[in-house]
Amino acid sequence: MYLCIYVFLKRHQYTNIKNFFSLYCLSITIYCFAAAFGLTASNIQEIKFWTIVQYIGMPFSSPLGLLFVMQYLGVKVTKKRLLLLLSIPFISLIMVATNDLHHFHYKEFIIHPTLGAPYSIIEIGVWYLVHGMYTFGCMLAAFLLLILRWKETAKLYRPQVIALMIGQLIPMVTAFIYLIGLTPPGFDPVPLVLWLTSILYLWAISTSRLFTVMPIAKDAIFHSISDGVLVLDEENHLIEFNEASKRMFPLLVKSLLGQDFYAVWQEVAGSSEEFCLDSVDTTQELKFEIERSENIYQVRTSTLKDGDVKKGLLIILTEITELKRLQSRLEQQAYFDELTQVYNRRAFFQHCEQKLAHAKIVQAPLTVILFDIDYFKKVNDTYGHLIGDQLLKHVANICQSELENLALFARYGGEEFVIALEGDAAKAGAAVADGIRSKIESSPLVVEELIITITASFGVAQTSGNPDETLAQVLNNADEALYEAKEEGRNRVQVYSKRKQQTR
Ligand code: GH3
Ligand code: MG
Ligand code: MG
Repeated sequence: MYLCIYVFLKRHQYTNIKNFFSLYCLSITIYCFAAAFGLTASNIQEIKFWTIVQYIGMPFSSPLGLLFVMQYLGVKVTKKRLLLLLSIPFISLIMVATNDLHHFHYKEFIIHPTLGAPYSIIEIGVWYLVHGMYTFGCMLAAFLLLILRWKETAKLYRPQVIALMIGQLIPMVTAFIYLIGLTPPGFDPVPLVLWLTSILYLWAISTSRLFTVMPIAKDAIFHSISDGVLVLDEENHLIEFNEASKRMFPLLVKSLLGQDFYAVWQEVAGSSEEFCLDSVDTTQELKFEIERSENIYQVRTSTLKDGDVKKGLLIILTEITELKRLQSRLEQQAYFDELTQVYNRRAFFQHCEQKLAHAKIVQAPLTVILFDIDYFKKVNDTYGHLIGDQLLKHVANICQSELENLALFARYGGEEFVIALEGDAAKAGAAVADGIRSKIESSPLVVEELIITITASFGVAQTSGNPDETLAQVLNNADEALYEAKEEGRNRVQVYSKRKQQTR
């Protein structure tokens, strides 16, 4: 009885064996108590009554013991096996309870003629044989299972397995000695030795790490993972959270357990971010401030199911602030020019292809301006590369402030830049280009004592309206115009014209 209560109270520690082991102990408890009370009986009715009570426990104990051993060894206990194993004990109970009607279990059941009550004499019936063989069979099966597993059992756990085997053997041997008539006459000695079995089991389960380590290990894993994990029940009450989530939300404390999740969330994360529990088994991204630093979390929610029944919800939070930072840095590197921080060639093509496609759909013109700094090599040669770099930034800044985000602007390569104007024809493009040209000319770069004046040449080309025209073709035309601007003396804007270029 102690063992039964002990394991029941510590059931969270003995998750894998708790049910069958507790039931096994309970069946033995019933058996032993009934046997003890049976010894107080003074007539045959009382003896028979306590025998029936014994049978509420005793026939179930050996199959339950077998089930416990099966579970201990990891043999799958299916519902079918369970029902099959427990059906015979159930019949035995009915047989004993109704024995006076059919005498299948005891042919004869009388008070011992010389010893008197509570001692009795029995003559066994057919069902008694079935019941006896079945009881022995279960004990033997458990014993054999333990032996079969002997080789696979780590040395460390062998004493425990021996204890379980002896535990099985003790009632088996005692019952055998009883049946061949070697024990004092008149009563069943098995309940008297079961305490030995209990002690062996108690020792085995309290020293075997198999029963106690797994739940601890699972707990350790739960608390050691770096993701924050929150467990909710089916009504969205918070029932558990791990150490990592405590680190993420310093306000998350044990006293919040049992409360509605939305209330808890408001308390620990502030109400700034909406949290949606409806879209389960999904991933969402949440941003919120904790202790004055903004963090970004990836939140995964997944339903906890037992078969098809929803048992609760798991919320897993992964901090992705760094990852997001890295991602935007990579994006920055992939699409922006490192020196001037304007779009690079790749970004220009990506965006401009879209603009061209759109312009074709709405049948609007698109104008491209290519410009190249004049005699830039000289700047490098005279003032050095660093000043050359500064000049490139300077030109990019001028251009950006002139365009005010109204056009697509990028560094095309080296000291060449490109501008795309959607909806504008070449004439308007030339005006924009000339504005920038004169701004560059009139804004020298001032570094320390140096004043460096620079100019640039511009080539402007407009889409022809041909639906098959590619961006490369338009850029090529702009490049030709730019070449012409250089030829014509630099610091000027040249618009591409088909006729002109052909005659050139
Ligand atoms: P022009 O265009 O007027 O015909 O003469 P240019 O001297 O500008 O000739 P070109 O366009 O051929 O020269 C480009 C020079 O730009 C060559 C290269 O050293 C320099 N350059 C290209 N990229 C960079 C850069 O990132 N930084 C610096 N400092 N110089 C660069
Ligand atoms: Mg160039
Ligand atoms: Mg140049």
